[in-house]
Amino acid sequence: MESRNQAYIGLDLGGTFLKYALADEKGGILIKSKRPSQGDQKKEAIFSNIFFAIDEMAQAAQARQLEIAAIGMGSPGAIDYNQCRLLGNTPNLPDWGDAEIRKEIGKHYPFPIWADNDANVAALAEVRQGAARGYKYVIAITLGTGIGGGVIINDEIFRGSHFSGAELGHMSIDYNGLPCGCGGVGCIEAYASAPAMVRNYVGKLQKSRTMVPSMVNTELIFANAQNGDQAAMQVIDETCEYLGAALASFTNIFNPEIFVIGGGVADAGDEFMTRIWNALVKRAMDAPLRNLKLVRAHLGNDAGVVGAICLAMDAVRAAKITR
Ligand SMILES: [Zn+2]
Repeated sequence: MESRNQAYIGLDLGGTFLKYALADEKGGILIKSKRPSQGDQKKEAIFSNIFFAIDEMAQAAQARQLEIAAIGMGSPGAIDYNQCRLLGNTPNLPDWGDAEIRKEIGKHYPFPIWADNDANVAALAEVRQGAARGYKYVIAITLGTGIGGGVIINDEIFRGSHFSGAELGHMSIDYNGLPCGCGGVGCIEAYASAPAMVRNYVGKLQKSRTMVPSMVNTELIFANAQNGDQAAMQVIDETCEYLGAALASFTNIFNPEIFVIGGGVADAGDEFMTRIWNALVKRAMDAPLRNLKLVRAHLGNDAGVVGAICLAMDAVRAAKITR
């Protein structure tokens, strides 16, 4: 029998959507789609959406005469990479805790299955196909509703001893500071996430007895700052200082080659990046600053699904080497 060209399925599970794609043997996306993940429902409902997505991609592969080499998946939560199952709970998918990803998918499909934490997978995507291509020591940070992070050390995802490391958003920048959702105090997420910026801005407006607009988001804060709004400018100044403090600590500890900054807030533009960089340089030690770079993420909303594909490709490659 003639051997067919290989393909990969990538799945990116979120609280609202399941994004998925089929990629060719080099990781290039052939088709992509998304459907509601029903993250607020029972595990069975979430798995049935996953099966629907795999069916759709497997059919698309068959139509192209491609053979599925592996499935990769990114999911919120701490994930035991060896067994591909959740360890404990995930706030946005209440029933997803302890989900046996590989075991459940493996009941229905003959393909190898690999899963990892969504922030780890997004970091891998930037290294394999995005802004950090060619770098081996990379810290990827996603600024959004929360602050997520992935750490790549010597070209591999750093997972910690029990698969729950690299929670960069929970680096404390003030031991006496604001309480954080994680139970800690002074975490960078409590200062520089999108909701934290909004809270900071609303607080400043109230203090100066300025009317608070009915809808405040980070886009409004950046737009108002452009138009000379003092409170908005201050919020951005402070956010850059907070992030600079956290990134300086990461610089001193990990000595990365490059920081990749993604997420909605990072879309504010290059000036925002420059100011974070300036705040970082002010604080970090001299030696790890040499040759350090800070760039914006390239893959945007596709980072999760591309990373899932890269995870599967890396696993298949590793299996070929050890065989
Ligand atoms: Zn925290």
